[in-house]
Amino acid sequence: MNIKKLAKPNVRALRAYQAKEIPCKIKLDANESPYGFKVLKSIRTNKYPDPEAKELRKLAAKEFKIKTENILHGNGSDELIYNLISTFGGPVLYPVPTFTMYGIISQALGEKKIEIPLDKYFDLDINEFIKTIKKKKPKLVFLSSPNNPTGNSFSSDRILRIVKQSKGLVVVDEAYQPFSDKKSFLLLLKKHKNLIILRTLSKIGLAGLRVGFMIAHRDIIHEVNKVRLPFNLNSLSQKIAFDVIQDKKRMHSFIKIIKAERKKLFHEMKKIDCLKIYPSDANFILFRVNPVKNKVSGGVKNADTIYKNLLKKGVLIRNIKGIIDGCLRVTVGTPKENAIFLRNLKQLL
Ligand code: PMP
Repeated sequence: MNIKKLAKPNVRALRAYQAKEIPCKIKLDANESPYGFKVLKSIRTNKYPDPEAKELRKLAAKEFKIKTENILHGNGSDELIYNLISTFGGPVLYPVPTFTMYGIISQALGEKKIEIPLDKYFDLDINEFIKTIKKKKPKLVFLSSPNNPTGNSFSSDRILRIVKQSKGLVVVDEAYQPFSDKKSFLLLLKKHKNLIILRTLSKIGLAGLRVGFMIAHRDIIHEVNKVRLPFNLNSLSQKIAFDVIQDKKRMHSFIKIIKAERKKLFHEMKKIDCLKIYPSDANFILFRVNPVKNKVSGGVKNADTIYKNLLKKGVLIRNIKGIIDGCLRVTVGTPKENAIFLRNLKQLL
């Protein structure tokens, strides 16, 4: 597969922005201020960040057991989705419901988008996918697995069939993979040149820093790197992300707590009569509220009213009306937050 040919002609003809780091004693080449502030021990605010995030990429590559040349850093994985669609263009194919940014960015960039509804188990409608891939030849396929907002992982054999059948690139967005017991697709990168994995630190404690990674064949990294803004990841984020990944014990202990809390929350919610709880491999739970009519007042309790009344009690969850009608999505919080959510939910129902 010739990745260069797959990139839009205008990107193919580009040369990546050159922000070479040249060793020197006095750096006067980039219109930076000579006066800075030391925010953390080793961070100077007056100098531009490392455009290539070398230290961070090297450490993250070690974590993912891949080479540094196979990883690109983004200001969150949102930015990498944007860069991917800028680089390769459409048609962009993805299932629905899924993470809404695939569609929003495609549309913002004027690229054609193709949406295929998930089947009744929220899994990929594989026949429809294969048919569409053959007919429409999408340049990019986005598969969020575990999927947001449904919480389930797609069948890995279906994902693999899509990877094998595609003449374009297949992005497996593993934003929620750290909370799943299923295998990551990272292991299959060597076998499939058109496979791209997205990871983020946002769901595991660093959403405020905006750090995401794309892991792919070096030819893909090379093309996407051309549309990446030179200093897309600021110094503070690079440094803190580095420290946190290095001290991964803490991060893993938090993931363990969230997984245990998800299990508890799932079982407690299941006990509530008028709810349907969907199993989750992510750090949130999707649930359906079957409307109930109050025989005395005549009022109806449904997803909308539960959402509003929880908010009145100070508990904010996500109303996904318009994406999956009648359903709500709750993020797994601390044990105390989850207990408060559950108490209020039980009271309301
Ligand atoms: N992919 C999925 C599936 C997501 O749900 C999200 C966040 N909601 C993202 C990517 C974006 O994450 P980031 O914070 O790294 O931009």
